[in-house]
Amino acid sequence: MATPMSHDQWLKALRAEGVTVQEYPGWRTRERDDETGLTFGPVHMFLNHHTAGRNSRDIVAKNGVPGLPAPLAHVYLAKSGVATMCSAGRANHAGTMARNAYTSFLNEQSTHPAPSQASGTIDGNDVSYGCETENLGDGKDVYPRTQYDAWVRINAAVCRYHGWSAESVGCHKETSVEGKVDPRGPVEGYGSRGRFEFTPRQFRADVAERLRHPASWSPSSVSKPSIPQSNPEEDGMPTVQEIAEAVMHFPMDDPRTSGTKYVRVKDVLWWIGADAAHANARTEALEAQVAALTAKVDRLIAANTQG
Ligand SMILES: [Zn+2]
Repeated sequence: MATPMSHDQWLKALRAEGVTVQEYPGWRTRERDDETGLTFGPVHMFLNHHTAGRNSRDIVAKNGVPGLPAPLAHVYLAKSGVATMCSAGRANHAGTMARNAYTSFLNEQSTHPAPSQASGTIDGNDVSYGCETENLGDGKDVYPRTQYDAWVRINAAVCRYHGWSAESVGCHKETSVEGKVDPRGPVEGYGSRGRFEFTPRQFRADVAERLRHPASWSPSSVSKPSIPQSNPEEDGMPTVQEIAEAVMHFPMDDPRTSGTKYVRVKDVLWWIGADAAHANARTEALEAQVAALTAKVDRLIAANTQG
């Protein structure tokens, strides 16, 4: 029995585990509890998925798919290894779970039976956290080393928070009675290991190894994923250029009409420039006049002195 982690507990746990994490806009209020009238939790396990697509972050966090409203997981893990928080409430990721499989994770058994419809079923979205990991799911698309490392960290962070063992970590194909095959595919490598095929058993072993170390531990010289700064499609945030453009076109009170009309910031800046140029020209003209007058006065003084 465990009360689901709060938004801030999620962020704290993931960051302590060395995960590079972003917050999807609106994630703190996005869940399926209100819409379904079903309360999320208590939670007993962490369920892992592959997205079976590319760049599915918006789908997982906000858009959903026909017949399945978002959020579609709590965490979206990109190929880059950057995690995005999509929800801390009920999410549509687990579907119907076989009771025999679920029970094995609840009790943290050392082996997990194949999911059997005959054992009965439960609503998996009530009892599990979910991570959608970006991968085509065709059995060929490779999970980069950085992504797999982040994936292990995410699972370990949640287990560490709740005091769970790695046997609370499951995969969709281990619980689904709907014939799910996720996650699957080759992993580029992890720690000292080279390329290998993803298996739930190996994944749990890697999570278990992490849990034997402090949260700050790294299995090898993995580089920490960095958040891209320039691609607006990647993080949903405007670029510096887009912000600057928006500021320049922002309407403000026209200072010449006491606020009865609006002008754009860029027009005001142009006027300031034009006014400055005008003032400079006027100053130069006055300086010339003063110089001419000074010369005239000098000449008059000289004439008077001679006289
Ligand atoms: Zn799945």
